[in-house]
Parts: sequence; C-alpha cells; structure tokens
Amino acid sequence: MNKTELKNASIDSIESMADFYEKTADEIWENPELSLKEYKAAALYCRILREHGFDVREKLCGIDTAFCGSFGSGRPYIGILGEFDALSGLSQKAGSCEKDPVVQDGDGHGCGHNLLGVGSLAAAFAVKKYLQDSGSSGTVIFFGCPGEEGGSGKAFMAREKVWEKLDAAFCWHPADVNQVKTGTNNSSIQVLYKFKGTAAHAAECPELGRSALDAVELMNVGVQFLREHMTDDCRVHYAILNAGGVSPNVVQSEADVLYMTRANKVKDCVALQKRVDKIAQGAALMTETSFERVFIDGTSELLPNFTLEKLMYDNFEKIGVVQHNDEERAFAAELRKTFPPQSAVPGIGAHFNADIAETVMEKTHDLTEPLNDFLMPYYSGTGFTAGSTDVGDVSWLTPAAQIETATWPSGMPLHTWQTVACGKSSIAYKGMLCAGKVMAASAIDLIEDPELLKAAREEFKRRAKGGYTCPIEPETVPTAL
Ligand SMILES: [Zn+2]
Ligand SMILES: [Zn+2]
Repeated sequence: MNKTELKNASIDSIESMADFYEKTADEIWENPELSLKEYKAAALYCRILREHGFDVREKLCGIDTAFCGSFGSGRPYIGILGEFDALSGLSQKAGSCEKDPVVQDGDGHGCGHNLLGVGSLAAAFAVKKYLQDSGSSGTVIFFGCPGEEGGSGKAFMAREKVWEKLDAAFCWHPADVNQVKTGTNNSSIQVLYKFKGTAAHAAECPELGRSALDAVELMNVGVQFLREHMTDDCRVHYAILNAGGVSPNVVQSEADVLYMTRANKVKDCVALQKRVDKIAQGAALMTETSFERVFIDGTSELLPNFTLEKLMYDNFEKIGVVQHNDEERAFAAELRKTFPPQSAVPGIGAHFNADIAETVMEKTHDLTEPLNDFLMPYYSGTGFTAGSTDVGDVSWLTPAAQIETATWPSGMPLHTWQTVACGKSSIAYKGMLCAGKVMAASAIDLIEDPELLKAAREEFKRRAKGGYTCPIEPETVPTAL
C-alpha cells in the first residue's frame, strides 16, 4: 500500500472499532465525574492506552487525573487532546425527551466530554496504526486533560510548558454543527473570596456583629458599578458558594463568593481581576471584616492557526459529515421542542460573514432542520466571540486547531439535561467517530508533510510573538471546587 492507502486504512480502522469506542464513551457517560475528580475515567483511559501499546505517564504536573500516552518515535510530536469531566446537577436518562434524572441531583455529561475524550482516543489510535504500518517517523501523544469545566487542567499543564514540546495539537468538541473552529475568545480568571466577620445575635446585640455576608453583598454591588467602566469584551460573573448559614437571626461570620472575570487578552483579564480585588478590599473595609483571596484557575484566549484550520477543513470535506436517518431526525425534532426556538444562525463563519449566514439559512431551511448534516462553508478569521477554554493555553505554546461535529440537535444549548440525554445516541456516536477521523487524517498529513508543519509553525510564531503569559498564579495548585 502507498501512503495515501495507508492513511485511508487508518481512518477506516476507526469505523471498524466503532463498538469499542461507543462502549468506552458509554462507560464514561455512566460514571460522570466532576472536574479534577475524574478518577474512574483517567484509570480507564490509562488502562486502554497501555493495552494498545502506548507508553503512559500518569499524574502529569502533579494533577491526579492528568495523564498522557504516547506511541511512535521521533518528530513530529502530535498531541491529541481529550477531556472527560462532567457537570453537577445534570443527571438525566439517555434518549429521554423529558427531564428525568438517573440520580436526583446527580451529575451528568452536559458538555459531551464522554464523547470528546473518546473521539480523540480514536484519532490517536488511528495515527498509531498509520505510524506502525508506514514506518514513518513521528509520535502521537494522547493527553488526558482534566478539569475543563472547572480547574483549567490544560492551563496548569501550560504553566509547566507541557505543550511547548509539541509540533502541533488537535482537539474537537461535540456541538450542533460541523465546522472548523477559528478566531479568538476570552481569557478568564477565577478567584474565591472568603470573607470572615464576627457572629452575633442579630436582634439582641447586632452592634457586636460584623457580617461577612454584608461584605459579599457590598462586593457584588461594587462590581455592578465596575461594569460601566470595562471594555465590551469583558465579563464578570459570580456565584455565592457560602452565604453563612440559614439563620437570618445570626450575623453571618463567614461568606464565600467565587468570581470569574473575563477579557479577550490575558493581560487585560489580569488587570480587570486586580480591580475586582480592590472591590473586595473596599467591601472588607466598609464592613470591618477580612477576607482570604484564593486563586482558583484561569485560561488564555485562543490563538487561531489558519494553516491547521485549512488542513482540518480539507480533511473534513474529504471524509464527509455524518448523515442521519429518519429515526435520528425524529428524536432530534422531539428533543428540540423542549428548548427555546433557535434564533442565531449557527457557525462561527455565519457570525462574521453575511454571505455564509445566508448560505447556512438556506441549508437549514431557515433554521427548521432538526440536525445540521452539512459542513459549514470554510471560514478562517481572527474575530472575537465570548467564552473561554483552556485549549487557549495550548494554542499559545504550539500550533493548535479544533473542529466541532454535530452530535446533537441544532440550536440545543450546552450544559443542559438535553445534552446529557443525547450522550448515548447514535447521533452522538456518529459525530464522535467523524471527529476522530478528521483529527487523525490531519495528524497523518502533518507527519508526512514537513512544509505544512513549517507553515503552521511560522504562523504560530507570528501570532504568539508577544509571548505566553500564564494566567495561573505561580504558587496555585489545582483545586476542585
Ligand atoms: Zn466542553
Ligand atoms: Zn462545557
């Protein structure tokens, strides 16, 4: 076989192992684990990687559930990123079109990371087959990246420069569209403020009390006034993790609030976060309380790499997107009735380009199609969309690109019970395997084409010339909230 035939055979091997990949994704779906506590998933992946001849390293960067498995020898080093964490409160029966938890208040795979990790694993195994059959120089490394939903595993790994040695990295995410991702997004930082005051009887001796809950409330009010004086790309969100108890007749001596600040550029995000710190100081001063500042995590904005995006697009076009049968379309249509009607035209290209938006409106018959079974028109750009991912930190240290495949109905919001309901469907499996094929094909092309690798590297150097500022503060250890 020539190298093209070997490449095709490697891609085809994903389909012939479909049962194995689907079962693995199911096992992770059935054992949802929250960020940085993905012990079962990490153990499962490490076992599978070893069984398939990969050299496994566990507890990367001191994170219990971070690991990698590599196969092959020599350059290029191609990283394939996998995630596997779930979300709290999203337990849901698979295939059901009504909210129906498996476990009351249990966790669930509301971001499709049961599929994400396995699609990436499929890509890594296909590249392994190619390396074995072709004898080409190259190493494929599957990275088990914990804590995407909270914890920013990849950013902690970036702080240790894990990604720097790679020649390129690929990733994907389950979605409602088939597209190559592009553009940039938000950097983000999370800090927990733990206020301490003095407890007192709220009626008999309120003058002796100093309320930590008051401090949290005043901090939140202060931040509302900050909002007028930030740039449009900035966002500030908060969650009160501890309101000091359930008794209004007690002056609350402790209260905790978790803040997430976002800005497009990481240096602006760091600066905005410092302003939030000042508001916390002001709140403590006003209430005569004190607070402990606990840095939790952070992510950097994505750097696009058009060279890799075009490579992924070409392979996506050749491999083709998933087509759906009547049963799948009926399930998607039924599930679609349970969330608000779609209003935004899907796809990054449609967001930035009116012609693409028009094409997508035609293809979706004015957003009435329950499933998007077409590839978005090619679009690469540097435009900004809100949101954050720790893939951003990878993209500052090596050329990186990502795709999305349609694994659930069009317009379906992420982090919902509906996402969990789709997690074991044939729609999800098909999208997962398709993603694995596109990533594997792109990795194989990089292994065989040094010019392509050079072009991706040159573009990366140009975009990352300012240098990487890790948003994670030096002494921080990854913390599961
Ligand atoms: Zn996700
Ligand atoms: Zn998510």
